[in-house]
Amino acid sequence: MSNQLAFASIEKISSLIREKKVSVSEVCTYFKKRLEKYSALGSTLEVYEKPQLPEQVKENGILYGIPGLRKDNICHKGYLTTCASKILKNYQSPYSATVIEKLEDAGAVILGRANMDEFAMGSSNETSAYFPAKNPWDQSRVPGGSSGGSAAAVAAGLVPWALGSETGGSVRQPSALTGIVGLKPTYGRISRYGLVAYASSLDQVGIFAKTVKDNSLVFQAIAGHDSKDSTSLPVPVDFSSCETLPNGLTIGVIENAINADGIDPEIRSSFEEMIKVYEKLGIKVKRIKLESLDFAPAAYFIISRAEAASNLARFDGVKYGFRADADSLNKMYCQTREEGFGQEVRLRILAGNYVLSAGHSAQFYANAKNVQAWVKNEVKSIFESIDALVLPVHAAPAFKFGAFVKNKLQLDLQDYYTCFVNLAGVPALAVPCGQTKAGLPIGFQIVGSHGAESLLYKLGYAYEKETPWHTMNPSGFED
Ligand code: GLN
Repeated sequence: MSNQLAFASIEKISSLIREKKVSVSEVCTYFKKRLEKYSALGSTLEVYEKPQLPEQVKENGILYGIPGLRKDNICHKGYLTTCASKILKNYQSPYSATVIEKLEDAGAVILGRANMDEFAMGSSNETSAYFPAKNPWDQSRVPGGSSGGSAAAVAAGLVPWALGSETGGSVRQPSALTGIVGLKPTYGRISRYGLVAYASSLDQVGIFAKTVKDNSLVFQAIAGHDSKDSTSLPVPVDFSSCETLPNGLTIGVIENAINADGIDPEIRSSFEEMIKVYEKLGIKVKRIKLESLDFAPAAYFIISRAEAASNLARFDGVKYGFRADADSLNKMYCQTREEGFGQEVRLRILAGNYVLSAGHSAQFYANAKNVQAWVKNEVKSIFESIDALVLPVHAAPAFKFGAFVKNKLQLDLQDYYTCFVNLAGVPALAVPCGQTKAGLPIGFQIVGSHGAESLLYKLGYAYEKETPWHTMNPSGFED
């Protein structure tokens, strides 16, 4: 039985539970043991000693008995939530995030918390204050970030789903680098209540799973309005099945994205093959340009740092977590932040305060907001004539640890294909579409207009049915 579970879909595990071929507690023990056995992958910061199993009344829940992980910046009452930072090393969540409550209501089981870049700042998981998560396809390479632990665990079959968070690409990029499906929802579609803030106007909880359908099941469990989040959208969510594709669709291929400098030829050719699959399915393909694409990373850089500096001001040794010993209040503030935050977080706080400072905010912050308005308008006008956009998620496959130590700008440019989506507030779904000759996963993304998650799932599912990529698993994680 157990060897049927490792890389099984949520649908499959659900049916085994329903048919009483396996019990919820067997399923959860099985995955808990896998997380422990493969702990060297670094995907988790904690595996719960006694995960809370659902009560029998949850039996009709859409995720009844299905275990998964939360990213370490999503609060779970009574458990640690550290954002992979030393400053929150001993911080216990006093309440659960809405997404956690909704998952538990749907019968899901949280098995632990996934590793991440510190405060979700990074693209490689190397900024975790504890240890990096590794890419299960090649452990000398990064799994992407910042939700790298969540992605690595799902890709290695250690859990069927995991939650992540997105501010500039932190679900889609690790999904693509590890060969799984990742959703960045419309801004406001999934509650942020209980998600530790990095850049609040961009942050969203996102979802990892091995297949499009599995991803959509988790979405059904957690999407929807939440009165505890003032930015939550008060509109109904379209949960129609991913299995029916509407007729007469047109997708736009962002031409300047695939012709960008530095894109790996293997990524470009997988992308072109992917387009042929859609054409074969009778979908019209229109080649378009997104003029604002090249400007989005700089605007994202400024807006995210500005908001990070404000949000992280609360970690001062008084209210939360770590406090340094010092003989005056001022020294205590400084030492707490100096010792508690890692280098990347300190850099971002510095940059954020700089771009907001008197004399510089008009030049940097106000300009970045103007670029954001341009991105939003351009994306909106594109969706007047097409139904969805496709483009790569990343320019190159998973890189080696330390590859960008001497070139931080290149690391920041990992967000090149993803962050315009966050600036526009629209949803996007990353789907695997190939492998390099060296056996590393390649992904593409489908971007929709506001609230179009269900169309993204339909398009992703239609593609998945025609291709083998979602069935491939890294070796070394069999039982
Ligand atoms: N790589 C981006 C950054 O470091 C994305 C982070 C995110 O989406 N949380 O800001």
